Amino acid sequence: MKAEIIAVGSELLTPYRLDTNSLFLTSELNSVGVRVVHKAVVGDTPGEMYSSFRHALDRADMVVSCGGLGPTDDDRTRQTVADLLGRKLLCDEAILEKIRERFRRFGRAMPEINERQALVIEGATVLPNPKGTAPGQWIEVKGHIIVLLPGVPHELRALMEAEVKPRLAHLDIRERLFTRDLRISGLFESDVEQRVSPLYAAYPESDTTILATARGIELHPSIWSGDPGKAEKTLDEMVSRMALALGENLYSTRGETMEEIVAQLLTEHQATVAVAESCTGGLLSERITALSGSSAYFLGGVVCYSNELKSSLVGVPAEMIAAKGAVSSEVALALADGIRKRTGATIGLGITGVAGPTGGTLEKPVGLVHIGIADERSTRDRKFQFPGDRERIRNFAALNALDAVRRHFLFPAIGRS
Ligand code: AMP
Ligand code: MG
Repeated sequence: MKAEIIAVGSELLTPYRLDTNSLFLTSELNSVGVRVVHKAVVGDTPGEMYSSFRHALDRADMVVSCGGLGPTDDDRTRQTVADLLGRKLLCDEAILEKIRERFRRFGRAMPEINERQALVIEGATVLPNPKGTAPGQWIEVKGHIIVLLPGVPHELRALMEAEVKPRLAHLDIRERLFTRDLRISGLFESDVEQRVSPLYAAYPESDTTILATARGIELHPSIWSGDPGKAEKTLDEMVSRMALALGENLYSTRGETMEEIVAQLLTEHQATVAVAESCTGGLLSERITALSGSSAYFLGGVVCYSNELKSSLVGVPAEMIAAKGAVSSEVALALADGIRKRTGATIGLGITGVAGPTGGTLEKPVGLVHIGIADERSTRDRKFQFPGDRERIRNFAALNALDAVRRHFLFPAIGRS
């Protein structure tokens, strides 16, 4: 079954408000086997709305709209769909009484305009709204289903759960979406694509989306199928082959975040970590401590932005900073080793870099970040040249510092001193 989502609301066509309802609706529809093939955002303009609904009915078996069911003049979804279907709008006394009752409960008389919310398209099933005044409507017409839902996100969610999903379950859709969530760090999006894209042709029944995020690259291979066993087997095979192509850059195959993977590794090895952050200003600590239970492996750290604090708090020799510069592999290593020694952690991490947009030089351009990692036996550092603005560079730095911990456990520095 194919669906189109229409988000109605002029505010969604301004720079100030984003249509997020359709993300929720897509996820819910997918979970019961309905594919979303098209989405539209349309203002509260009857002509535009009319044409949106008309085209949606041409393209999809099911049209789900949100918004435009309120009591005001610009809430025109009911009227538009009634016009399109050539049906009347009828006042539903039971709904009207419910709305009046709702107002009474809050100690108010119902404003006359709210009567509009009791208007139901001829032949529609009313979907009661447990969280607000605007009920949804479910209309079946010539092999199509039209579902009108309110725009207020928590009302939409409540209605979806209580009224729409049970009805969709009755349609007995056999097809389901099967999917995997692979996370990759240490490669650019185009590198990932280049490594895995030869596989796409081998699995024509699958569809793989690639997403670049502040948390690394995500790959989502997916298959729509009525045969769960076969779909899961195919996906497992795809994931194995993708894993081979991606090597150690693949850090998760079940959608775990880097923080979660690092937490597992530290716990498994009964290791602790402490950090000395310069250009990330505490972002790394924030990431680590966002996970509950992080006190088991995270000792803490310092934000040492100035050269003075790098020396006084972490013990980086002032001469080293003078000779090599604050952004250097030597200082990253000294930060890592210094914080490890001062805290007694198993592993120390040091980050120093140029987050920009100012402060870059020819020799040390914006985006240059050194990440040091130290344990009792050895220190290592990696030099990165990250692309993007200040926010992206800092996010990449925090992610790759966590990744340094992961790689540390993957490739222990045996025999190094
Ligand atoms: P409406 O049902 O059109 O009166 O919408 C009520 C409110 O819900 C709007 O003012 C928005 O704040 C919110 N809203 C409507 N549509 C969406 C949407 N597609 N995504 C997120 N919020 C929305
Ligand atoms: Mg609106």
